[in-house]
Amino acid sequence: MDCIFCKIVAGEVPVDILYQDEEVMAFYDIQPRAPKHLLIIPKAHIASVAVLGEGETQLMGRLISVAKQLAEREGIAHSGYRLTINSGADAGQVVPHLHLHLLGGRRLSDDLA
Ligand code: 5GP
Ligand code: ZN
Repeated sequence: MDCIFCKIVAGEVPVDILYQDEEVMAFYDIQPRAPKHLLIIPKAHIASVAVLGEGETQLMGRLISVAKQLAEREGIAHSGYRLTINSGADAGQVVPHLHLHLLGGRRLSDDLA
């Protein structure tokens, strides 16, 4: 499949793996928009929240739990951070493989755009 995040999961595109287990993987965003900008993804190819099944709510909980642990490890748990999931064109989703952005290390704007 021609999906960049599936290629990262498969080890075909090298990244520094910050976390992984059977279901979840995390690495730094290639174009960071904050001093700390991590991506947390399911290893399985799920295109977006828009196609998320009822049975995958536990997986979403896992992604958030991993994000929380990584925020602690990156030293931004106390200063604060933002978790963002873009879904579809109007949100600016570019990679059609579900991912959670973890952003922190600076004061983030109130503007959600
Ligand atoms: P989206 O706009 O789809 O929510 O965010 C996709 C994110 O993936 C972007 O922030 C982009 O910089 C990041 N990204 C795209 N390709 C790669 C890649 O090959 N490696 C890494 N580490 N991040 C990527
Ligand atoms: Zn994929």
